[in-house]
Parts: sequence; structure tokens; C-alpha cells
Amino acid sequence: MNDIPRHNFAAAPRLDLLDAQLASRFDNSFIRELPADPLRHDVPHQVRNACYSQVKPTPVASPRLLVWADAVGALLGVARPEAATGPAVDLLAGNRVLPGTQPYAARYGGHQFGNWAGQLGDGRAMTLVELIGPDGQRRELQLKGAGRTPYSRTADGRAVLRSSVREFLCSEAMHYLGVPTTRALSLVATGDSVVRDMFYDGNPQAEPGAIVCRVAPSFVRFGNFEILTWNDELAELKRLADYVIRTHYPELGEPSPEVYALWFEEICRRTAVMVAGWMRVGFVHGVMNTDNMSILGLTIDYGPYGWLEGYDLGWTPNTTDAEGRRYCYGRQAEIAQWNLIRLASALLPLIPDRAHLEGGILTYERVYGECSRRIMGDKLGLLEIDAGDDALLEDLATALHAAETDMTLFFRHLADVPVDEAGANLSDNALTAPLRGAFYGGDDAAGGHLGAWLRRYVDRVRRDGETPARRRARMNRSNPKYVARNYLAQLAIDALAAGDASVIDRLLAVLERPYDEQPEHEDLAVRRPEWARHKAGCSALSCSS
Ligand code: AMP
Ligand code: MG
Repeated sequence: MNDIPRHNFAAAPRLDLLDAQLASRFDNSFIRELPADPLRHDVPHQVRNACYSQVKPTPVASPRLLVWADAVGALLGVARPEAATGPAVDLLAGNRVLPGTQPYAARYGGHQFGNWAGQLGDGRAMTLVELIGPDGQRRELQLKGAGRTPYSRTADGRAVLRSSVREFLCSEAMHYLGVPTTRALSLVATGDSVVRDMFYDGNPQAEPGAIVCRVAPSFVRFGNFEILTWNDELAELKRLADYVIRTHYPELGEPSPEVYALWFEEICRRTAVMVAGWMRVGFVHGVMNTDNMSILGLTIDYGPYGWLEGYDLGWTPNTTDAEGRRYCYGRQAEIAQWNLIRLASALLPLIPDRAHLEGGILTYERVYGECSRRIMGDKLGLLEIDAGDDALLEDLATALHAAETDMTLFFRHLADVPVDEAGANLSDNALTAPLRGAFYGGDDAAGGHLGAWLRRYVDRVRRDGETPARRRARMNRSNPKYVARNYLAQLAIDALAAGDASVIDRLLAVLERPYDEQPEHEDLAVRRPEWARHKAGCSALSCSS
């Protein structure tokens, strides 16, 4: 599950963003092969019979490079700009557009909180170019926050620093956790301020603006297909499907009714793997609308996401979702399936045999089930999870919730609970000792809840007879030590806003090795401090970004 691509392109030649040779690696397939909106202005309008609108980024006051992901630069074969300001950074802020590139905003719709919302589209994201990396892979470079597009509706097309830091940090963290995700190349401060009503309470404030350059083979979403079917634009639907298959799923073969069905099934499979990955690491996306679901099965659009701290299946980081809890941790698998069914409806004109679409949905259930069982086995250090373990798992969820237990710390330190002969005879308190530090309500209360469970657990582990070293290694590969906790992101944001990049630099470096012990960074692997429990940005978040 958490096989991190380990290509090493560090040695491949890197070109300066302004190097004329870079243009030989541009290939703007999306705009070349798909229909464009004939209107060439950014006044909001309902676009018809098109997959995108050509746009221009709106320049900002004084771009300054704050963060650069060297590993992503290596994938792209692009060198870090030499200075924090200058022409290369201007590109990453949209103040300059490279010859050979034609920025566009994609047209998509979506189901938001269960309801069809009509046209949404890239309201503040724009793809600059598709760049072929030294590995031969195509990747889009997309600016988020570069100004208005025809899809901006009443909004400004901008992004604030706090949400840009959160997207950068978390997408990189997810990659190193081994969960499929979009990536981030750069974070640029714009020098402009952006007004946001962070709490939706009628108190708008000026905040520093920023632009992330994010990177993925494609940013196409379920909603790109839905908008076409909802508007009865079936020729465009077929063109988009054929394009996505030929460009991003070539292994499936030339588009045909059979290939469309195989493709849908593969999307279902990838979505299952992605969501199982979220559940493994305690990630809650927070806005699983169909416009935020990637057609490549990548985690996309990091908004009011969060990391489960106190274990609670009903927890949602999104304040807009606080009442309905549609997007809470424990419902993510079900919601992903709901979203896949919306995609299936959109693809019905291409796959008229419903049995094929239903087959895809069944594949989702099967793959998700298989992944979850394997993951739970790894997380708990059991060789296999079978039906006989259902009660053990259910009781664990109840005990973790009751004792307000930090999910990350619990699973990481479960590997330290003695499961040998000695462990079988320890008191509840002694058995719980390695988990000290994981309980928000204090360690004493926790022993009672978990002691009895641990006793059953130790018995169960001992039945497997796996060697302790192997078991621990497997657990530690599945249970990260370091995750991008909201309060850590907030500390990085506060420092960066005050001109100090050292906090985010350190965090990014630590999150590159989330499964490794990093004794000098132990302070980043502790439970959320109490001051952060109700502080804005540190636990729950609004969509305002
Ligand atoms: P999200 O909730 O971020 O997935 O966004 C939903 C829709 O609103 C997408 O079409 C976004 O492009 C658009 N959107 C969000 N924020 C802005 C903004 N500041 N300016 C323009 N469009 C936005
Ligand atoms: Mg979105």
C-alpha cells in the first residue's frame, strides 16, 4: 500500500524554468485535443460544449518564492529558481507566461454535499502547461490562486497563505506516506492581501495572498464528466473520455464500449486504494464533493482537511459539515462509493450496459475490503484479519473513542506493547504503559478502557507466532510516526506569515520520512497540545480559503 515511488531523477539534468530548451518538453494535449470555450474573457459565464476556457493569470504585486519542493523539481527536471524573486518566480506567480504555454481553466461541475451544483470549474486554478519529465511522465503544472477565470462566479480567484501552506504541506506529506496524491512544486507569496471571512461570521479580514504551483499527471475530476452529461453534451463526453483513456490509461487499449467499462472499473479500484490509504493514516478530506474526486484516484484539492487526533469515526474537520457529518472520517469509504455512482451515471451514455457499471462498483467494494483488511492486519501486527476478528476490531474502535486516544500515537506505539510471555502476565497499567502520551484525557483513565482490550489483543497476536522483529517492521511501515497535524501546519503558517520559513522547512523534511524514527524531531510526534484544541486552524476549519 505504501510503496513510495523511489525513482531517483536527482541526477537527471534540470533546466531553468526560463530555459528555452524546456519548451521541447511541453505537450499541451488537453487543449490540443479537447474543445475550447469560444469566449475568451474571464467574466463568469455558463460555458457550453467545451472542456476548458483559455485564461490568463492576473499579475500580483511582488512575488516571492517561499517554499520549493526539490523532489518535485527533480521529477519535472526543473531547477529551483536561483533567487526568491526574479523572472523564474514571476512564472510561478503568473506574472509572466512562458512562450509555448496556453493557460486554461477546466470546466467541471459537481455534486456538493449530495446535491447537483451545476457548473463549478477551475475558479482559481489554472493549468499552465503539461511538461514531460526526465522519466517520460506527463505532468500538469497548475497555479492555484492566480486570478479570476470564467468559473470564478462571485469569488476573487485568489488563495490565502494559510490555505496554500496547508495544500503544499499536506500533499507532499501524503505522497511520502504512500497515499496517491497530487504534488506541490512551489509556494509563492504574492505581496497582495486577500480578504476572507475566515469564520463566516461577518468579520472579513485582509490576509496575505499566496499561489501554489501544484503538479499531477492530470487534474481531471469526476465533475468534468458530470457537467457534460448533465448538459447533454454527449459528443464532448466521448471526446473527454477517449482523451483521458488514451492519455492516462493507455494500457487499457483503444477506447471502445468494453474499454470504457474496464476504465470505470479501474477508477473504482484506484479510488478504493486511495480511500483505504486515507483511513490507514487518519486523513479526513473534509469536502468529498464529486468535483474534488480525481479521475486518476489521487487525493486532490486540499481544503478543510484534517488528521484524526482523538479517535472518532464521526469527526469532520470541516465546520460546514459539522452538522451533517457527511464527510467525517468513518463515512469516507461510503461517500467515495456514492461519488463513484454519480460518475457511473455520467458515463452511462458511454457504457449503456448497467451491469458493467455495477461491476465497477462491486470492484470498489471488493478492493476496499481487501485493502482495509490488509491494512488493519499491518496496523495491528496481525498476519491476517478474518471474520473471527470482527469483535476485536469493533471493541478497539469503541475503546479508542472512549479514552480519546490519538490515532497516530496509538498505532505507532502498539508495536511496543509486550506481546511475549511476560506481556501475558502484566497488569493493565503495565500493558498500557507504551501507549502513554496517546490519551487526551490523561493516562490513568485510559488504562481501564484499553487494558482489557490489550489483553485480548496480546492473546490474538501470540496465536500468529510471527517473529517480533518482522511484526514490528511491518507495523512501522503502516503506522506513520509523523503526520501533518493541523496544529503543526498552523505553526508553520504563523511562522511563515512572520517571515520565518524554518518551521515549514523542518516540517517538510521530517514528513519526507514519516515512518522513520527521527529522535531529534520527537517534539513533532506528540499529541496535539491542549491550547490547539479549539484554536482556529488547529482542529476544525471552514472552507474559506
Ligand atoms: P472547493 O470547495 O475549493 O472545491 O471549490 C469549489 C468551487 O469553487 C471550485 O469551482 C473552485 O474553483 C471555486 N472557488 C473556490 N474558491 C474560489 C475563489 N477564491 N475564487 C474563485 N473560485 C473559487
Ligand atoms: Mg475543489
